[in-house]
Amino acid sequence: MNTYEVNYNVHGKYPDRKTYVKLLPCPFCGSRNLEVWNTHTPSFCVNCFDCEGQAHGKYRPKSFPKALASAVDAWNRRAPRREDRA
Ligand SMILES: [Zn+2]
Repeated sequence: MNTYEVNYNVHGKYPDRKTYVKLLPCPFCGSRNLEVWNTHTPSFCVNCFDCEGQAHGKYRPKSFPKALASAVDAWNRRAPRREDRA
């Protein structure tokens, strides 16, 4: 698990809000070169810079934290390699 910084700034509602999430390495290529991006709607996506693997979170119009958590859950559920489970 590595910790990644996430910024969201959506229509001035969350000006420069910053939070941190923990992500497993990429399930496709093992990279830790990841980012979490926000689409300026209550929806987030985890993206791998090395293989362009992605996991999209659910759209949660009333809760950005829940939208973010769903993207993190989607990414971390994707068949982590055995050595990453500890
Ligand atoms: Zn990857």
